Amino acid sequence: MISIVLPAYSEEDNIRPLCREIIAYLEESSGFEIIFVDDGSRDLTYERIEELARIDARVKGIRLSRNFGHQTALLAGLNEAAGEVVIMMDADGQHPPSMIPRLIEKLDEGFDVVNTTRIDARGTGLFKRISSRWFYRVFNTLSDTRIEPASADFRIMNRKALDAFLTIEEHDRFTRGLVSWMGFRQTHLPYQAEKRISGRSKYSLKRMRLFAFDGVTSFSSKPLRISMILGLATILGGFVYMIYAVVMYLQGHTNPGWTSLLITVLLIGGIQLFSIGILGEYLGRIFHEAKRRPHYFIEKRTSKPGSQGSKR
Ligand code: UDP
Ligand code: MG
Repeated sequence: MISIVLPAYSEEDNIRPLCREIIAYLEESSGFEIIFVDDGSRDLTYERIEELARIDARVKGIRLSRNFGHQTALLAGLNEAAGEVVIMMDADGQHPPSMIPRLIEKLDEGFDVVNTTRIDARGTGLFKRISSRWFYRVFNTLSDTRIEPASADFRIMNRKALDAFLTIEEHDRFTRGLVSWMGFRQTHLPYQAEKRISGRSKYSLKRMRLFAFDGVTSFSSKPLRISMILGLATILGGFVYMIYAVVMYLQGHTNPGWTSLLITVLLIGGIQLFSIGILGEYLGRIFHEAKRRPHYFIEKRTSKPGSQGSKR
């Protein structure tokens, strides 16, 4: 059986056409379930899911108690999946269901995970393209875990990989990094990104920034090392300057010194604050993880839980 997991946040007009299209591509397969996760939508997304679930028992839905964010909604859906194989994709139509047969085919070649990378076409804005390119460049420089540029949370996994993925307990989840970090036999396929069926992107600039920060801080501690190197460089520079200052003093040149003093104070102050900021960023994440709160709560579901649902 194949489970398709789709996190949806206020996608009321996309659920129905997308669901129909997915079913068309899966009709021949032996068995499937489509699991929509309503991530605390503010529109009729859950009602749309319920309607579909009433007429087709293969469609299921859960509603989270509030908006927990894309990555957590994805986890909630994966926890529900009962299939031997699971496909995760967006609920806005940007991940074309026409890729599904090819994903399955590739998995059957003996891979455990088949990821996808976006070929930028009409679907992606210029800003997203540029910021994404830079993000992966920085991420791959800083982290030992490599992610293919333009990766998407559109992938297929077998049960073995999924079970491994579900044992990861991190809260600030950066799925594409975690999947890459897991190992197993992985490959990737390119896909043409489509335009959203309707509505607008839920990833605001602020969310993209948070997503990028989560990605870097959960996969690399190099920023901490960089702040230490900056500190060392400052000490070195300070030492050289100290010698210069002492020599000047011994030669009797007492400089007015305002400019150099100001520059030194500002520079050192800046580096200190910057380093403390980086430290705080990691500390905040440790604090967040240390509380060990549940990842999400399920408010209601369209059918009796087949699997046990949220494990934590
Ligand atoms: N999404 C979600 N919770 C959120 C934000 C987004 O479940 O808090 C879902 C959204 O409904 C969509 C997917 O995550 O199915 C990707 O989001 P979106 O299309 O807004 O991002 P983009 O494609 O612009 O990167
Ligand atoms: Mg989208």
